[in-house]
Amino acid sequence: MNTHLQTPIDYLKGVGPNRADLLRKELGIHTYQDLINLFPNRYLDRTKYFKINELQQNNAEVQVIGKLIKFEEIAQKRGKRLVATFQDETGTMELVWFRGQKWIRDSLKLQTPYVIFGKTNFYGGKFSMPHPEMELLTEHQTSLRSAMQPIYPSTEKLNNKGITNRVVNKIMQQLFVETKGRFIETLSPELLESQKLISKSDALFNIHFPKNQDLLARAQYRLKFEELFYIQLQLILKNLIHKSKIKGLPFEKVGNYFNTFYETYLPFELTNAQKRVLKEIRQDLGSHAQMNRLLQGDVGSGKTIVAFMSMLMALDNGFQACLMAPTEILSVQHYNGLLEWCKQLDISIKILTGSSKTSNRKEIHHALENGELQILIGTHALLEDKVKFKNLGLAIIDEQHRFGVEQRSKLWHKGPKISPTQSSENNEPKGAIPPHVLVMTATPIPRTLAMSVYGDLDISVIDELPPGRQAIKTVHRYDKNRLDVFRFIRDEIEKGRQIYIVYPLIQESEKMDYKDLMDGYESISRDFPMPKYQISIVHGQMKAADKDFEMQRFIKGETQIMVATTVIEVGVNVPNASVMIIESAERFGLSQLHQLRGRVGRGAEQSYCILMTSHKLSNDSKTRLETMTRTNDGFDIAEVDLKLRGPGDIMGTQQSGVLNLRIADIVKDGNILKTARYYAKHVLNSDPNLSKPNNQAILFTYQQMSKYKNIWNYIS
Ligand code: ADP
Ligand code: MG
Repeated sequence: MNTHLQTPIDYLKGVGPNRADLLRKELGIHTYQDLINLFPNRYLDRTKYFKINELQQNNAEVQVIGKLIKFEEIAQKRGKRLVATFQDETGTMELVWFRGQKWIRDSLKLQTPYVIFGKTNFYGGKFSMPHPEMELLTEHQTSLRSAMQPIYPSTEKLNNKGITNRVVNKIMQQLFVETKGRFIETLSPELLESQKLISKSDALFNIHFPKNQDLLARAQYRLKFEELFYIQLQLILKNLIHKSKIKGLPFEKVGNYFNTFYETYLPFELTNAQKRVLKEIRQDLGSHAQMNRLLQGDVGSGKTIVAFMSMLMALDNGFQACLMAPTEILSVQHYNGLLEWCKQLDISIKILTGSSKTSNRKEIHHALENGELQILIGTHALLEDKVKFKNLGLAIIDEQHRFGVEQRSKLWHKGPKISPTQSSENNEPKGAIPPHVLVMTATPIPRTLAMSVYGDLDISVIDELPPGRQAIKTVHRYDKNRLDVFRFIRDEIEKGRQIYIVYPLIQESEKMDYKDLMDGYESISRDFPMPKYQISIVHGQMKAADKDFEMQRFIKGETQIMVATTVIEVGVNVPNASVMIIESAERFGLSQLHQLRGRVGRGAEQSYCILMTSHKLSNDSKTRLETMTRTNDGFDIAEVDLKLRGPGDIMGTQQSGVLNLRIADIVKDGNILKTARYYAKHVLNSDPNLSKPNNQAILFTYQQMSKYKNIWNYIS
């Protein structure tokens, strides 16, 4: 039988209170179970023994068998170093210690075979190895060591206090001795069989003491699969439970508004992708379960009309709808865009933002509550408690990554109050039926990441741009090419086009950035003098009304150049603007560059994006710039971004469990993730309650996970 895995680590032979304390504090290891799940970061291949005359000048980690011939203390600037001559039958090398010399000298034996291991240096015609790992050959031959030596996560403190990698390895061995290396299987026989996975016990043994590369690979696969499988299982279950428990507002029909718009006013033929997504949304809305859907679509892919037509479905069933955008500019733009369509259909629509006047607000509050107002557009202002809907049926959030989780959940509670006849349903959140929720994002997230971060949402993708769009041409130019760039701008303005010039504005150095922006503005004003040229400027320190005024001038074509900070990043739509110049482009992240570029290429004309940088570029900056000039595909860019930054920094993923992955890597293990998701779905399809005897291992593990860990705190 297994020793109970929840046993405190103090009880393990060879650990004791001091070490236990360190393990707890430094690595969060409290129990046997925690220790078993301390997976190595990497492995050293110790299958090979080098002869001294085979050593190469490549600084590699090598293993050599030989004897210590003599010790020598050599004075140096501060203190001294201990140098030993180490010899095998092919030559000699030096072993060097800068610390712990007395202890080393006393404990090592001369003329006795040792196996040494470490990195080699080559200096003055000789190889040397600083602070080698040393083991008597006799012990080396008998130890339960595997040829692939695991290297465990560690900290400086652990090392200083003598809990070296070797000690961790010994403790791990002891753990396997005490538990006999037998662990409860956590996957079902079907899963093991269908994927030819090795058992849990074998996997754990080989992850810590791999016999060879092949077994190590199989152990890793099995554990990564298991980890991803349970994350997916959890997400899918959450989604299923959600659907069965949270009753949605039934949108029984597609009615007049939708049909009239579709038949009479549709301004263009929808792309196939738009049609498909509308169908998916329609299905959700008619399904009696609450919709919780993420709509991903690259900049310019046409999400707005999908949002609008979804709102029409709400209106057709007697409900209200709202659309929330992250900035005032965007809200205004949405409002102006939708206003046209609403007029045609005789729909009442209003906008509510931070700068709405009090009297106006009151009117809106009133009209919302008595149901006169059908569509409300706005910023965070929509979330205020005073904003009460009569019967909100659909809430749409644009540019979802700009909002937090709490905001999404706030919208939930703006749904209609449950009437006495409905309140017998006991699973709904108290007091209100949540509206259907559609969140939209133009920041493409790699599919693998989306599956993990938004795994509890259903996902729709618009993967097709409206026809007739020309690919934006993107180039990288240095400051010294500025004159050419200005000449190019002049030519484009000559042709009637408009230009964006964007400066970085990054919080910490805001003052300096602000100066850059103003300097840039001045120099542009000099090169493009009035009255021939008119220039708008928009930045975050301006009053909302001024911003809006400048924006409107540009939208109306009264100004040819818009100098701005990233406030114009999301959503702004000026089809006649065909050139985007990004200053200090090396300071922007990939998704931001892609967003900015998406401001052009919205009309029929060929559009351009010019990335201006200085000469000093980091490797990451170079990769970003190369990626931007290579492709316009947002998903492609997102993949590169994920590789550069890791999942932790990708917007909106901070609160997700993907960061707590212990062995799988969301970037590298995308295929395993897909397989895991497939099987998680498969298992739940055939056994939704995990009640079949064969799925008991899965049920048990799932329950344990929920009980002991709260890291899987996904977006609500
Ligand atoms: P985004 O997905 O970035 O929000 P928008 O909804 O703002 O994109 O659409 C970008 C532009 O493309 C708008 O000018 C819109 O009118 C236009 N558009 C959207 N769908 C189509 C289509 N099917 N055919 C032609 N133009 C379209
Ligand atoms: Mg948009």
